[in-house]
Amino acid sequence: MLAQIGDGAKVLAGGQSLIPLMKLRFANPSHLVDLNFVPGMSYVKGENGTLHFGALTRHAEIEGSETAARIPILHDCAAGVADVQVRNRGTIGGSLAEADPSGDWATVLMTLETEVHCLNAKSERTIALADFIKDAYTTALAHDELVREVVVRVPPPGSGGAYLALKRSAPVYPTASVAVQLTMERDACKDVAIALGCVGLTAIRAHDAEGVLRGQSVTGKKIATVVEAVRTACEPQSDMRGSADYKRNLAGALARRALESAVRRARGERLELGHIYA
Ligand SMILES: Cc1cc2nc3c(=O)[nH]c(=O)nc-3n(C[C@H](O)[C@H](O)[C@H](O)COP(=O)(O)OP(=O)(O)OC[C@H]3O[C@@H](n4cnc5c(N)ncnc54)[C@H](O)[C@@H]3O)c2cc1C
Repeated sequence: MLAQIGDGAKVLAGGQSLIPLMKLRFANPSHLVDLNFVPGMSYVKGENGTLHFGALTRHAEIEGSETAARIPILHDCAAGVADVQVRNRGTIGGSLAEADPSGDWATVLMTLETEVHCLNAKSERTIALADFIKDAYTTALAHDELVREVVVRVPPPGSGGAYLALKRSAPVYPTASVAVQLTMERDACKDVAIALGCVGLTAIRAHDAEGVLRGQSVTGKKIATVVEAVRTACEPQSDMRGSADYKRNLAGALARRALESAVRRARGERLELGHIYA
């Protein structure tokens, strides 16, 4: 249908981004192609060391999924998206396709090995998440192409992750957010990925901060250096959620807490995490 109608058509998934944009007249599609009538697009499956999420899987289904909880940072993310109403409708595929710079999923999934499986009427392709998100509200999808599935590799034993955001209230996007996913080997950090949300046009990988930790013990001194590197990596805009300086400092503080929680989880501690409300 997308190919037949042309680029005036828009896919409708949970409608939690598209419908508000249509109400504001920022989106004005000639046709809506409703994915909710397509069977078999909503599931969470574990297969050969990977987790598979159908594009139409709601945030709430992921929040309640024991399979998804094998990667605790995914539960942190799903449970923190907006409020119950939004989580019951909004989907993981819609969230990535929207590429909202304040969206939670891209920030979290960037710290994991994540692939986006896409298809149109003629062919399928697999795109690494880092190549899928091109810019704010811009992805690699062609107008006649769908996200079919999101595939995440389960991290090795000794891994832990944590996702933390600061929000003014549940049904708003975060002011800033930080995702940390790492693997510990004895007392050293073998590998780490740190992603920053809401402080740039897309989620930002804090590569310099990661470099501080890789192969090193996670000491107080190292954490302080990571916090500084995170502040430097941010590219925030001042807006109604806070000044650029405030967001930069906030991202540093969130990075410290997320890093400490990720290390505790990597050491086997079961830790319930929730976003921080201002
Ligand atoms: C009050 C409110 C608060 C919110 N707060 C947060 C928050 O804190 N954090 C957060 O991350 N999100 C938040 N959201 C957004 C929410 O997570 C949405 O669910 C998500 O951004 C889009 O998912 P959707 O399924 O609703 O997509 P839709 O709104 O249906 O679609 C969004 C876009 O993606 C396209 N699309 C959808 N599915 C596909 C697909 N499978 N293939 C190709 N293109 C597709 C659509 O054509 C459209 O352009 C909030 C929304 C509201 C209304």
